[in-house]
Amino acid sequence: MFTFLEYFNMEQSKKASTIEELGEFGLIEHLTENFSVKNKNTIKAVGDDAAVIDAGNDLLLVSTDILVEGIHFDLIYTPLKHLGYKSVVVNLSDIYAMNGKPEQITVAISVSGKLNLRALEDLYEGIKMACERYEVDLVGGDTTTSITGTTISISALGRVEKNQVVYRNGAKVNDLICVTGDLGAAYLGLQLLEREKNLFIADQSVKPDISNYPYCVERILKPENKPKTLKKLQEANILPNAMIDISDGLSSDILHICKQSQVSCKIYEDKIPINIETAQLAQEFFIDPSVAALNGGEDYELLFTIDQKYFEIISEMPEISIIGYISDKSEESALVARNGVEVPLKAQGWRHIG
Ligand code: ADP
Ligand code: MG
Repeated sequence: MFTFLEYFNMEQSKKASTIEELGEFGLIEHLTENFSVKNKNTIKAVGDDAAVIDAGNDLLLVSTDILVEGIHFDLIYTPLKHLGYKSVVVNLSDIYAMNGKPEQITVAISVSGKLNLRALEDLYEGIKMACERYEVDLVGGDTTTSITGTTISISALGRVEKNQVVYRNGAKVNDLICVTGDLGAAYLGLQLLEREKNLFIADQSVKPDISNYPYCVERILKPENKPKTLKKLQEANILPNAMIDISDGLSSDILHICKQSQVSCKIYEDKIPINIETAQLAQEFFIDPSVAALNGGEDYELLFTIDQKYFEIISEMPEISIIGYISDKSEESALVARNGVEVPLKAQGWRHIG
């Protein structure tokens, strides 16, 4: 006979090896593959940035993201106000990635004993700032205590017209691959904060100095969404064929589009948009900025594919970069390096589950 605890530990160790083998996306697929859709109005269940539900005249979008202390944020260098703001932004990002407009959020928190009332007020001040900036309403949630770290789970609801929704699976051969803003800054900002944290832990008389790289620090602590770019595309009558937001890194996220659209891609290294400050900080860390862009993640930029006929219009939009094209699935997805050599594109994103 096993004690309950022994049995639990055995089950846990069995699962642990399997979870590692599956990886985050394999795990989600594994856990959800036996669920069948029972309601006619469930248009898209698991697998895209948000679920899509037929709401009559238009479509309702629903997405959930969870931020866990010690995994997604470190309270040593994360101001609570920024954390509140960011936890809303990363959720809205999935609604925008369906070409939708976010409208409501719910916020569920489990609060560790380390946080006092003032800290929670700051967290909610950040949540409020994001709600105001992106015009969404806080409509509910749940609150409990935690015996370990703090967790924030937000669900976002949004809407999109039926003929305007954009999935991950619509990319077509010869489409142009486009990305908003620039990439890699959040990853390098995180490296900087981690370095300063470790210096501070080793010697508390050292004052952390992050003042030389305000852009990278802002990108990790307080990312923004890109609704204006989506509006501009709409005004130009350009509907992307496929779209995703970059949360796990360019390589991982373009490969999601490719897998779901049954196509491949070519990405040109010299076309990947990188901010000058990102390049400088990368140099300081001896990190190739392209690697930060490809594998870093947390950029919350939009990655989408469009028909080639829009090349000129898109070229006129400074906030969008054309970084490659969609190829037939018989070809291998590849990065064309600066020297012209093609290297297979691999998903090495995500430092953590989720
Ligand atoms: P994103 O990075 O865009 O937030 P994820 O990789 O977290 O997307 O999730 C991919 C898909 O899997 C989404 O449709 C999401 O709703 C779904 N998903 C993630 N975790 C779970 C889970 N534990 N149970 C059911 N569906 C899940
Ligand atoms: Mg997403």
